[in-house]
Amino acid sequence: MLPEQVSILVAGGGPAGFMAAISAAEAGLTGVHLLEATAEPLHKVLISGGGRCNVTHACWDPRDLVSHYPRGNRALRGPFSRFAAGDTVAWFDSHGLELVEESDGRLFPRANRSSAVVACLRRTAAAAGVTVHAGQAVQTAAREAEGFRVSLRNGRAVHAGRLVLATGSHPSGRRIAAGFGHTIVPPVPSLFTLALADDPLLELAGVSMDPVVLSLELPGGGRQQQRGAVLITHWGLSGPASLRLTAFAARQLQACAYRAVLRIDWSGGLGPEAIVGLFAQCRRDQARRQLANWRPWPELGSRLWQHLLRRSGVELDRRWADLGKAQQQRLIGDLCGSRHTISGRGPFGEEFVTAGGVALGEVNLGRMESRLEAGLHLVGELLDVDGVTGGFNFQHCWSSGWLAGQALAAVSSGPAPA
Ligand SMILES: Cc1cc2nc3c(=O)[nH]c(=O)nc-3n(C[C@H](O)[C@H](O)[C@H](O)COP(=O)(O)OP(=O)(O)OC[C@H]3O[C@@H](n4cnc5c(N)ncnc54)[C@H](O)[C@@H]3O)c2cc1C
Repeated sequence: MLPEQVSILVAGGGPAGFMAAISAAEAGLTGVHLLEATAEPLHKVLISGGGRCNVTHACWDPRDLVSHYPRGNRALRGPFSRFAAGDTVAWFDSHGLELVEESDGRLFPRANRSSAVVACLRRTAAAAGVTVHAGQAVQTAAREAEGFRVSLRNGRAVHAGRLVLATGSHPSGRRIAAGFGHTIVPPVPSLFTLALADDPLLELAGVSMDPVVLSLELPGGGRQQQRGAVLITHWGLSGPASLRLTAFAARQLQACAYRAVLRIDWSGGLGPEAIVGLFAQCRRDQARRQLANWRPWPELGSRLWQHLLRRSGVELDRRWADLGKAQQQRLIGDLCGSRHTISGRGPFGEEFVTAGGVALGEVNLGRMESRLEAGLHLVGELLDVDGVTGGFNFQHCWSSGWLAGQALAAVSSGPAPA
């Protein structure tokens, strides 16, 4: 049962809300209640990372870590200097969950199942004395003497000494924050597939290439570039480099209704001169081989190479010795910058977040406390912070939740704990 008066009320049972509640309770606070609107707290954690939950990233220096946040960036230096990826690993370890690093730096639970992370957080919350109430949605919150009056969708009202908003990208949290005078940076999607309608490249669905250089040319002259791995899907382009591009260009892409030009350098930035050299080598050493059967460098996938030959109008059975100058020029042009038209936003990748939210300037990021309303704390995706794919979004939840919990424990205000 939810009492009528509680010391701490956390609205939102996602990773940020759980971390805030646990951190406050473990630091000694009693009467910590967490309300989750749905029947299933931590439901995003459960589906995260393809069911494996990419908990954080092996990026140990806060100065490096911030560069993975298109929104947030340097403002996160302070928070990350207190709780960053290394602290996350240690925190989970001390709560019985070992994290294992993969070759690309992503960290997953050793069990390789997101349910292990959910179980760890739920077990820890219960042990620390946090009371979790599922199916209880916060509707409004208003200041009243020594705390907040919080109204629930089911008609009930609770008095909370301190209030933590951890509602993720749900509009209700933004609405409540705006009610306290907070500026809301308009939300736009981030981390999605780039759709390439009617592009012959789609025939290569399932092909990946690493590294490529993606250059986004936006209407009006803007440009964005990312280097790394891509995956061709039935819709268009996904994979880390493409997702990073959509994160850094999230707002510009939304402004142009997701219509732009994408140039793909399949050589990963080798440059035309180096490729001319590789072609010369093939002509010399593989003169009698058909082009389709001998790629200029081995990492260039054979399906992709044949696609590029067709795209440049070069016969697949032409021998290397017979490759004409004009054909070579077209081919190298396509290898270094094939041009594609982005036709929209495809379905989300494995990860999907919202850019935008409560403006950071109005939040004391050392305490995750509103600068406009004392006692109101804001954490996680509700804030105008989002990271690229790779565990960075959860990292911000762990950091902001932990800091809020520590700040809550450091003050003793509000009514007697319930
Ligand atoms: C498919 C998918 C996979 C992902 N995989 C990863 C990954 O592997 N690694 C990574 O770093 N990031 C990943 N992300 C991003 C990550 O899930 C989010 O950044 C993170 O969940 C945000 O946490 P949060 O606690 O701020 O919000 P949420 O996780 O959204 O939690 C907010 C909670 O608040 C509840 N709520 C909302 N409004 C109210 C209300 N008014 N009252 C009460 N409760 C309310 C919601 O139901 C929700 O449970 C993934 C996202 C998606 C969609």
